[in-house]
Order: sequence, then C-alpha cells, then structure tokens
Amino acid sequence: MHAREYQILREAVSEATHACIHEAEVCLPPDVKAAIDAAYESESDPVARGELANIRANIREAERLDIPLCQDTGIAVIYLTVPHSCPLHERDLIDAVYDGVRRATHSVPLRPNAVEPVLRQNSGDNTGVGIPPIHISEGPDLTVTALPKGAGSENVSRIGMLLPSQSGEIPAFIVETVLMAGGRPCPPVVVGVGIGGTFDLAASLAKEALLLPIDTMDEYEREILNAINSLGIGPMGLGGSTTALAVKVKKAHCHTASLPVAVNIQCWACRRATRKVSV
Ligand code: SF4
Repeated sequence: MHAREYQILREAVSEATHACIHEAEVCLPPDVKAAIDAAYESESDPVARGELANIRANIREAERLDIPLCQDTGIAVIYLTVPHSCPLHERDLIDAVYDGVRRATHSVPLRPNAVEPVLRQNSGDNTGVGIPPIHISEGPDLTVTALPKGAGSENVSRIGMLLPSQSGEIPAFIVETVLMAGGRPCPPVVVGVGIGGTFDLAASLAKEALLLPIDTMDEYEREILNAINSLGIGPMGLGGSTTALAVKVKKAHCHTASLPVAVNIQCWACRRATRKVSV
C-alpha cells in the first residue's frame, strides 16, 4: 500500500472513532430504547413511571438537539476488529483511535474526564496513559466500537474470586452487587457479567457483555434479572419494579481452583455504537 493510501486508511479509523463516539453519546441503540419504553409501559409505581418518562424525554431531547445524553460523557472504551489483510500497523491503529477521541472531545463535545490517578491532573482531551482502553481482536471487517462508560455505574462494579464450590452462589453475588449499588448507578441498569477466565479476563468479559443486544436473554440471565427487579430499588433509586433492564453474561473456562465473577454495571444510558471502515 502506498504511503498516501495508508494515511487515508489511518484517517478513516480516526474518523470512525469520532463518529461512533458521537453516535453513542447522543443516541441510544434501538434495543435499549425499546427496553426503556417497555419498562415505562409495565411499571405501575407512579414515581418510577415518572422517572422513566423523564428518561424517555431526555433521550428524545438529546437526539433532537444533537447533544450528549448525560453530562458525564464517560471514558470511551474502544473495541477494534481488524481483518488479517489490514495493512495498518497496531501502533498506527492506536494513534488513529487517540486522534478520534481527541476530535470527539472537541466536536461532540465530551467532558474532559481523563486524569492522572494520583495527582488528579486532567489531560484535557480524554486521552492519557492507557486511556482510552483499546481492545483489538481479529475479525472479517475493520470495525470500531465505542462504549462510553460513566463513573457512576463503573464505580459500583465489582469482582469476586469465588470458590469453585460456590458456582450456585453466582446469581446471589450479582444481585448483592446491584443491591449494594442502590440508586448510585442511575437505574434502570444493564448488568454485564463475566464468569470464569482469570481476574482480568472476567472483568473484560463483564464489560464486553454490555455490548450484547439486550432484547434477548437466556433463562439464567432472566432469573437473575427477576431477582434484581424484586429488590425495589427502581428507576433512579426512588422505588419501583424496574431496577434493571437486562442481565447479560459472558463466560470463559477458568482454573479448576478458581471462579472469578465480575459484575460491570451500566446505567440507563447504555451507550454503544459501531462503525465499519472500508479497507
Ligand atoms: S451513571 Fe450514567 S446516567 Fe448517571 S451520571 Fe453517570 S453516565 Fe450519567
């Protein structure tokens, strides 16, 4: 590939990053909006129904005005799929994503959220050491996915290194995590769960689970969802039967003596978007 074509492709990755962050910040995916609409229809508690009506109005106004759904525009976790044939070097892919995040910070605009962890100095553009987190995997197409994650929900996420004999207690661990979180993650939440792997892999799986469509759940996920919704936390923690919209689980094999379980909570602003880049 000629240098100019290489540069054009790198620029396309940067623009795709910018575009999918913009879309995610302003417009929720159809399955999330449908779940919020369904919760509004089924909720009988008047205060909870009012909160869901406020959330629906918030969603409509963000789209109409082309502004972020929430003042906490989060940290954008980025997932790239890269075909074997892609000529871009990994370093250039990463640089292009950083460019796209800086561009989105300026144009969406995003709140500058990235700080040095001890000194708390703000980088001003949502990039920094290890930020944005970028996960690269091989795939048939070159795609960029953005998952902006606010602190309110990230801060109440939890990981447990359970005993192998405790596999039956996994649902209780997940429900307890949501109970401990209460109203802080701006319910109704989406609960991403990673079961198995290692300490770090379980956390990654829990985050990846938040990328899955929430219009389908298996029996295991639905039973946990029902248990969460019987807690009575409700929308924005003000009571009601809609504490969570969905539970999504991803699993990996693990060491025979381990059982890591990670719970990554996402708020009602379950933001995600994907762009494909032509190679
Ligand atoms: S938890 Fe979500 S909805 Fe609540 S302030 Fe943070 S980003 Fe916004």
